[in-house]
Amino acid sequence: KLLESHKEENAPATFSFEFFTPKTSQGLQNLYDRMDRMYDLNPLFIDITWNAGGRLSTLTTEMVQTTSTVLGLETCMHLTCTNMKTDLIDQALRSAYESGCQNILALRGDPPLDGSESTGDFKYAKDLIRYIRKHYGDHFCIGVAAYPEGHPEESDPVKTLKYLKEKQDAGADFIVTQMFYDTENFINWCDECRKIGITMPIIPGIMPISTYAAFIRRAGWSEIAIPKHFSEALEPIKDDDAKVREVGTKLVIEMCQQLLESKRVNHLHFYTMNLEKSTLMILQGLNLVTKQQLHDMKQPWRKSLNPNR
Ligand code: FAD
Repeated sequence: KLLESHKEENAPATFSFEFFTPKTSQGLQNLYDRMDRMYDLNPLFIDITWNAGGRLSTLTTEMVQTTSTVLGLETCMHLTCTNMKTDLIDQALRSAYESGCQNILALRGDPPLDGSESTGDFKYAKDLIRYIRKHYGDHFCIGVAAYPEGHPEESDPVKTLKYLKEKQDAGADFIVTQMFYDTENFINWCDECRKIGITMPIIPGIMPISTYAAFIRRAGWSEIAIPKHFSEALEPIKDDDAKVREVGTKLVIEMCQQLLESKRVNHLHFYTMNLEKSTLMILQGLNLVTKQQLHDMKQPWRKSLNPNR
């Protein structure tokens, strides 16, 4: 459903925005305003991450309800199953269903921090996918996570691909990848996916570059390689945030152009980190949004002209 338009030959490239649950109510209100503004740029969907445990996980379902029903945005809800009993999964799915949300990114989640075994009823993401299909049929379009440079818990790339194929066999519809900057590796990985029968659309996860420290930290967390031309361009200017953003944006635009030209993908998923500037600069550089659109999204009066949104 979500990527229906991609079946058409030469369909224009599309994009989506990921947001995470903010910690304060002021942060939440600011984020709703930002989502609403950014939706004026016509992303295919927005998605909201899942924070296992406590208030933040119920906040995901509340936010999905607000973005789907109040703001009217096509929303994809992340759902993890580590430490989740079936009744909690049921509550989350029921809430998404009742909000009219039709898209779930089904994930396992990271293992408990203290090294203990998960107390959840589902071991892997594929078990969650099977459960969703069993109870909701085709209602949800189901996405899954994938790791072009490998998952920290599995060093064998052949096994990692096999496990990804198992998620497709369990009923998944599309893939969103971990962030990366090594385009060539990504393109080869897409080809490996196709060779073993993974036919789901592959959506690359794009992380904009805002500051040097954040760039290094996020690449470290995700255990991904930093290509030589990225470090050569960014390291010498690391103390000048504005310059890092400008040069980093150019590098990411170039990377996205190569991805789209490779024809392996036709959709870009932006990890916005709840900010808009860097993502918008990339979209503008790719000509996926116009200057006029960027200008219009800043006009508060615009919404009153469009009562349906
Ligand atoms: P799985 O696909 O279940 O894989 C987990 C591990 O088990 C992998 O090492 C895999 O190789 C291995 N494995 C899978 N099947 C088998 C099998 N049959 N036998 C043996 N080993 C197997 N985390 C959050 O907490 N909230 C979020 O909102 C969130 N969003 C994300 C979005 C994206 C796009 C990505 C890429 C990651 C996201 N994550 C999120 C992080 C994710 O939860 C972790 O990376 C987690 O460790 C793995 O989740 P998974 O769904 O890929 O798990």
